[in-house]
Amino acid sequence: MRLSRSFLPTLKENPAEAQITSHRLMLRAGMIRQTAAGIYAWLPAGLRVLRHIANIVRHEQDAVGAQELLMPTMQSADLWKRSGRYDAYGPEMLRIRDRHERDMLFGPTNEEMITDLFGQAVKSYKELPQVLYQIQWKFRDEVRPRFGVMRGREFYMKDAYSFDLDHDAAVDTYRRMMLAYLRTFQRLGVRAIPMRADTGPIGGELSHEFLILAPTGESGVFFDSALEDQDWLGENVDLNDRASLEKFFTGMTSFYAATDEMHDAEAWAKVPAERQREGRGIEVGHIFNFGRKYTQSMDIAVSGPDGAPLYPEMGSYGIGVSRLVAAIIEASHDDNGIIWPASVAPFRAAIINLKNGDAQCDAICEKLYAAAPDDLLYDDRAERAGAKFADADLLGHPWQLIVGPRGAKDGKVEVKNRRTGERTEETVDAALALIAKIRA
Ligand code: ATP
Ligand code: MG
Repeated sequence: MRLSRSFLPTLKENPAEAQITSHRLMLRAGMIRQTAAGIYAWLPAGLRVLRHIANIVRHEQDAVGAQELLMPTMQSADLWKRSGRYDAYGPEMLRIRDRHERDMLFGPTNEEMITDLFGQAVKSYKELPQVLYQIQWKFRDEVRPRFGVMRGREFYMKDAYSFDLDHDAAVDTYRRMMLAYLRTFQRLGVRAIPMRADTGPIGGELSHEFLILAPTGESGVFFDSALEDQDWLGENVDLNDRASLEKFFTGMTSFYAATDEMHDAEAWAKVPAERQREGRGIEVGHIFNFGRKYTQSMDIAVSGPDGAPLYPEMGSYGIGVSRLVAAIIEASHDDNGIIWPASVAPFRAAIINLKNGDAQCDAICEKLYAAAPDDLLYDDRAERAGAKFADADLLGHPWQLIVGPRGAKDGKVEVKNRRTGERTEETVDAALALIAKIRA
């Protein structure tokens, strides 16, 4: 994209309404704008990041056999009356009445709808397991929406739901999903630590939250630093083999990790002191096994091996996709702006032309730009160099390809790594080779 023509309304000053870094930087970098309390428009740069995150989430869900579908945001209250949650849910549910006086709601989550869809389609235990997911907007009328998209009212969530024959099979599905989550966060370029969680009002016995470490996090966390060093992408797990899943899960849960709500001082004392880490974290994912709660309350049975009705065991698995955009920034920024992990950055690199109109500078910039015009931001504005550098740092492109008259004479490009600040002088071909491998 050519910056001179793009809708990228950056701000020089810090917006007064933003209390935390990620909110400030998302506004300043022209990623989002608030349109009503806790409700945001995603501008082109923000939407690019949101999509990159969603696609990585999608890829890792598909890799463990989950199937994507898309459910509506609007739901009928009748569905929720069947599970008993219509009255139980409280004021976070946005209730709406249509012109025929029918009670509707903007979905805060989709257990009821998916259970109903499952029940209409699946009749026999032989069709189990099923894992279905969507990436869809949710609405929760949070009492205090704050920190930008970190705690919005409308937010983008990946929600998956599993249906299994029995508890053992449901636990296998849970473990597969756990691995998918660990791989997802690693590919997003952040560390999200899985922590044992309270199962709360959803009930059931197995639950983990995934938290990204950041001082602005709402939860206090205690964990064994060994968890930070794991390579989940390299972990060789046979997804179809219970013993292999068990080994992975037992290994992972042998390391202590808990939020303050679940903290156990006695178990914590057994973690070697040099590996004890305390801090704060942002919840970016949450997985549950809750047994037959919905299949029973909504009377959704399949025929079992002996012909008798069988209520499948369920789990649900959320990832806060829009919250992740902010959480990644909280975990990865400096005084000058955002530092995007390459996998989610809005653009692979910025091309900074220091002298627009100079034939050699223009020619080199155009040549670089042509390598990936959809995925590079070419700063071709008639602006001072300082302003261009400041914007590139603010937007957090992993690389800056700086083209000035002095280097251009010799066919050279200055390449700056946003994270390390390191600058090197490269040939145009070397810069092109770099562009080709940034998201590879
Ligand atoms: P929280 O404790 O932060 O209110 P939750 O436990 O109610 O979240 P879940 O029902 O577990 O949320 O939803 C799954 C994921 O959706 C969460 O892990 C979080 O990342 C994200 N999420 C939940 N509420 C919001 C919100 N108001 N704004 C943005 N993301 C949210
Ligand atoms: Mg949660």
